[in-house]
Amino acid sequence: MNAAALESIARELAAGGICCERAAALKGRTTFRLGGLCPLLIHCERPEQLGQAVDLLHCTGTGFELIGGGSNLLVSDDGVDCPVICYATGVPEISHDGLELTVSGSTALDAVAGYAVEHGLGGLVNASGIPGTVGGAIVGNAGAFGWQVGDALVSVDLLTRDGGRDTVGPGALGFSYRDSQLKRTRQIVRSAVFRMPGTDPAADRAERQRILDLRASKHPDLSVFSCAGSFFRNIEPTSAADRRQAAGYLLDKAGAKAMKFGGAGVYEKHANIIIKDSDDCSAQDILELSRMMAAAVHERFDIELMREAQLLGDFDDAGVASDRA
Ligand SMILES: Cc1cc2nc3c(=O)[nH]c(=O)nc-3n(C[C@H](O)[C@H](O)[C@H](O)COP(=O)(O)OP(=O)(O)OC[C@H]3O[C@@H](n4cnc5c(N)ncnc54)[C@H](O)[C@@H]3O)c2cc1C
Repeated sequence: MNAAALESIARELAAGGICCERAAALKGRTTFRLGGLCPLLIHCERPEQLGQAVDLLHCTGTGFELIGGGSNLLVSDDGVDCPVICYATGVPEISHDGLELTVSGSTALDAVAGYAVEHGLGGLVNASGIPGTVGGAIVGNAGAFGWQVGDALVSVDLLTRDGGRDTVGPGALGFSYRDSQLKRTRQIVRSAVFRMPGTDPAADRAERQRILDLRASKHPDLSVFSCAGSFFRNIEPTSAADRRQAAGYLLDKAGAKAMKFGGAGVYEKHANIIIKDSDDCSAQDILELSRMMAAAVHERFDIELMREAQLLGDFDDAGVASDRA
């Protein structure tokens, strides 16, 4: 896209109070800390800003990508050649009326979990410590300990890429394990309403602390290790009698913890977590290592792993199906 058009978009957004960065490094916006540049990074913290930015991009015929907290993303070393909206904020936008809680899609999921605990609302304690935004969590139906974000939703306020708005209930979002229809429709989660069961704050506070401690003992500290959490989805049961199989278990048995490719390696405590293991690690290294790991599981168990982490931008030979390893 031409520089003058981008400059004009950046100026108009800045005049509306929306901060834009030219030739921005996307790696600073992801927990993998990898990936190239985008021509324009548009920071939207509040739903109104998101609406303004999407309207302008649509009116100018400008395609764009959208990211939240960047905690489930592998960005190409070549970056992306269109503007990227980053819909995330460090200032939670949360309110509640009785047991209904309304939150912007840009708010950190963990901040909502903390808010719900402190206000005796319950319902989101299992989300404690999951990185990323509410929007990212709804799109990927994030969850932990048998709970998924779709379980607690009342409605979602969506924005289409042409600026249209719609409010839908969870039934319209086609939630399943780590998946929703939003991955295909590419609608944007502007805000969401959750219904809470109500609880005793003291008990929930203790449970939240227990979960945060447990996660700290199992997951990499993001200030030390760069990763996107579990790289592969767990395996769906093939019959009602089967249980979901942990991809980490299969990967461990297939010898993944010892695998490396270029600067990419595997977290020593969890075979399903790929980490940036050295400064010269590239995003392509991560993808290549993931392929080696998936091939090892296929060879040993005849099971195809599916990627949970989302790719953004072009990779060498990324494969046909978006979630294929
Ligand atoms: C250390 C670590 C631990 C983790 N633990 C867990 C866990 O326990 N459970 C779990 O489920 N996940 C876990 N994850 C993965 C990740 O935190 C979740 O997938 C999270 O919900 C992603 O949210 P995000 O805002 O970072 O999304 P991003 O990574 O920014 O984006 C992911 C996808 O969502 C889309 N998206 C983002 N925001 C919106 C929006 N507002 N509207 C529409 N689309 C949007 C993007 O376009 C992209 O396709 C972990 C990750 C890390 C690094």
